[in-house]
Amino acid sequence: MWGRALDAVYPRGCAGCGAGAWPFCSSCAQALRPLAPPWCERCGSPSILAVPACRDCPPSSLDSARAAFVYDGPARRAVHRLKFSGWRDVATAMADAIAAVTTPAAADVVTWVPLARGRRAERGYDQARALAVALAHRLDLPAARLLRRPVATDPQARRSGAERRTAMRGAFRAVHDVPARVLLVDDVLTTGATLGAAAEALRGAGAREVHALAAARSLPGRGPLRGAGRSAYPRVGSGPGLWLPGDVPR
Ligand SMILES: [Zn+2]
Ligand SMILES: [Zn+2]
Repeated sequence: MWGRALDAVYPRGCAGCGAGAWPFCSSCAQALRPLAPPWCERCGSPSILAVPACRDCPPSSLDSARAAFVYDGPARRAVHRLKFSGWRDVATAMADAIAAVTTPAAADVVTWVPLARGRRAERGYDQARALAVALAHRLDLPAARLLRRPVATDPQARRSGAERRTAMRGAFRAVHDVPARVLLVDDVLTTGATLGAAAEALRGAGAREVHALAAARSLPGRGPLRGAGRSAYPRVGSGPGLWLPGDVPR
């Protein structure tokens, strides 16, 4: 109700620049780099040819991974709006983009990589949960909290993929029994160390298939990508939500 009331007062702006039309203005839409085939069939990493697996593949606890956009430019700014400014509508736009980039595997439930409690209290908002709820709605599946994160472990502080995986081991606990097929959502996919550790906890509690979905994928050191950014950003609808004027992402 508040969302609608505020929407009427403050019309939504572009998730990329905040100024143009919702969900992405034409110049931000041009600058978005949607991930599209050819790619690694397992993890969706851009590739000149379709390959069954690649050196960027996330840990084996994940059956597959897909992200909607390369994590830079307007996609990066949109994720920051979701993360630090609580623009809930960005979750809807990103969920639509995730559903457009891939046909998510058949699943019983959508869940998310939770923030540790301290972080959630600090920020007042769990962006991965917002994305998971929007995606579940889009796919007509239930969304459920299946994981908790007792300690705030930060894989980004570690340099190598192996170091990140070691740092993340045991970071998550399943909260109860987990259905067989799970879609696991996070805002950004980097090495997959965090998603992989979360998937391990889900498997330990009964999951047989875990597929990761993210709004954006960080591809450091990959330079300009062939195969990414050629297709136009898909037109997406919009839902009611809340954004606050004056929010400037970092
Ligand atoms: Zn824009
Ligand atoms: Zn791969």
